[in-house]
Amino acid sequence: MSIDSVASRESPAFFRNEIVPALHRIQAEYGYLNRNALEEYSKNTGIPLYRLHEVASYFPFFHFKEPPAVTVKICQNMACHMSGATHILAELEPFAKENAPHVHIEGVSCLGRCDAAPIVCVSAAHKPAAGASTNGLAGQVLSNAHGDESHGAEEEFYLSPANTTELREAIQACLTGKTKHLQSLGGRHGSGYPSPDWLIDPYKDGLPKYQAIRNLLEARDGPIREASRSLIEQLQIPESDVPQFLQTLKKNSKAQQEKSPKWVEAAFKEFDCRPANGPIALRGLGGAGVPASQKWRDVREAVINLRERDLDDRAFILVNGDESEPGTFKDRELLLHYPHLVIEGVILAGIISDATEGFIYIRHEYPEQIEACEKAIKEAERMGVCGMNAYLLGKPFPVSVFVSPGGYICGEQSALINALEGHRGEPRNLPPQPQTNGLEQQPTLVSNVETYAWAPYILVNGGAQYCSLGNNGWGGRRFFSVSGDVNRPGVYEVPMGLTLRELLHGDQYCQGISGTGKLKAFAPSGPSGGFIPAILPSPRDPAKNKAWIALAARRGFPVDAQQLDILDMELELDLWRALSPTGMLGAGLIVYDDTRDMAEQSVNSLEFFRNESCGKCVPCRLGSQKLTNLGENVLDHVIDSQSWHNEIFPLVKELVQVMSDSSICGLGRSFQSPISTLTDYFSSDLERHLLHPTSTQ
Ligand code: SF4
Repeated sequence: MSIDSVASRESPAFFRNEIVPALHRIQAEYGYLNRNALEEYSKNTGIPLYRLHEVASYFPFFHFKEPPAVTVKICQNMACHMSGATHILAELEPFAKENAPHVHIEGVSCLGRCDAAPIVCVSAAHKPAAGASTNGLAGQVLSNAHGDESHGAEEEFYLSPANTTELREAIQACLTGKTKHLQSLGGRHGSGYPSPDWLIDPYKDGLPKYQAIRNLLEARDGPIREASRSLIEQLQIPESDVPQFLQTLKKNSKAQQEKSPKWVEAAFKEFDCRPANGPIALRGLGGAGVPASQKWRDVREAVINLRERDLDDRAFILVNGDESEPGTFKDRELLLHYPHLVIEGVILAGIISDATEGFIYIRHEYPEQIEACEKAIKEAERMGVCGMNAYLLGKPFPVSVFVSPGGYICGEQSALINALEGHRGEPRNLPPQPQTNGLEQQPTLVSNVETYAWAPYILVNGGAQYCSLGNNGWGGRRFFSVSGDVNRPGVYEVPMGLTLRELLHGDQYCQGISGTGKLKAFAPSGPSGGFIPAILPSPRDPAKNKAWIALAARRGFPVDAQQLDILDMELELDLWRALSPTGMLGAGLIVYDDTRDMAEQSVNSLEFFRNESCGKCVPCRLGSQKLTNLGENVLDHVIDSQSWHNEIFPLVKELVQVMSDSSICGLGRSFQSPISTLTDYFSSDLERHLLHPTSTQ
């Protein structure tokens, strides 16, 4: 009996939500959400039209009106802003007016290519094929619900124009249909990817792909296979059906109910490896620094609890490939060059937590990555490690790509789950955590692309080997994306503990600060981590600060030093939590030379958060607008210094505190960092914009 006959993709054991894929398909067909097509789809599926509108109206990607011949989206955040994107937008407005209604231009949030800033996405409208009928479309949507969805406009180009003339020429080319020479920037720009130094792929020297899965399955099934050898021979079970047979045998055995069998504990031991006196090397990338394996344990435990109570025990593994935070584009490279590692990580997590299905959630602005993952999934299915006929696993384990309809907030794990379920992508109140109540209220693991991608390396080479890849007493390696004022922006896989100096000035990394060559500030976590000055004051009580004392010993400065050269900081979360004013170290690092106006950069961050607030919490929805308006007024030189210090700033502090205390998700708490670091470390930049009694402004 084949696995295919036991369960099919139609089985209720598998998750399916069609709304977002169907909206993608309708928009791909018509260039927009054609009303007739929506109505037809609603009629055919029984999904009320208001549900389709509810979802579509939330996401920036979907639109209800036929688009103009050319739509130009200019990224306005961080590195793009530094590269003059705001001016490009302003300079292009008269051109758009001249060419209205055929050309529309707008400023948008990060497009994920900060290493080639400024980035512009030019879309040539996609007209429906002559004679396309809504009947045909709805039928196609239904019949291909799990098939080959299209992703957005037919012709979409990501460009890095040297000037507005070049951009105008690209727009003209789209208007006249002469787009052949336009070369879209995918994941192959910047400093040349992937780097030969990247160690993450344990298969680069010829080991067969998916070996980590085979190793884990051997640990899981080896003992029971040995014990059942004579039975297998007696029943003449073909080799390819043995894993499924063993799974069936185990279903009723005591071992199946064990929360922590030996093979699972052995895998966790590898994942939880740590250097002497250091933290666990493989930790989540959400900012809390929780060991990556913790969530895997939680999901496994939740599945077993459900099974013990004879309840629906479906569980899901989700890859968060939304990557919409300005300055962060490392997952773009991992998904493009190493999709097999991400897929293997999903399957490993699925085996360990006994989950039923995996999804790779990827932002729609990454078409090459979507294609690479879909291709790699097909290859993995052929190798029997996933899909409905995952014969090596002994049970079906479908893995598929979900194309995000956009929005920074969908990177928040519960918002991502809502989007996947076909709801508006708003964060949920937590707890309960997704590990127990995630997708369809079932146990769900949501982790970053990179976390999954390291799992095969660790299970092939061992946790100790992974740990040994760190520097200065820290363990493991990690990816950072660096942009802004550096000579060689890009994605770098670095040993944990590498100093910021080595990353920014090292020959194999960023090769120095560009512009004036002098560092003024450093954003350690996109717009969320604020702006850290090149020279930081020492901590309040340095002689009692263990992190400071240890860093002083390693870097050779006295414990009573009054300040810290930020370049001496080592790239490791615990250190930044202990010594950096915002305590954050993300994956998107942005560098500012000493000509940058940090007041302007801070307001740019506020604008980003304002634009991306989902509006669910009133303090975040209204507060983000108020703070941004205020910041823009400061830049416009309409606020006097006295009012700022005596009246406005105390209120700003109060408002930021209310937002932090009452917001459901991290976005509402993120306004704090750009404001506090501006006022604490770059007050002269702020003062320059305020009106002073002697000011002639
Ligand atoms: Fe939405 Fe802001 Fe509330 Fe987060 S804090 S849920 S972004 S309104």
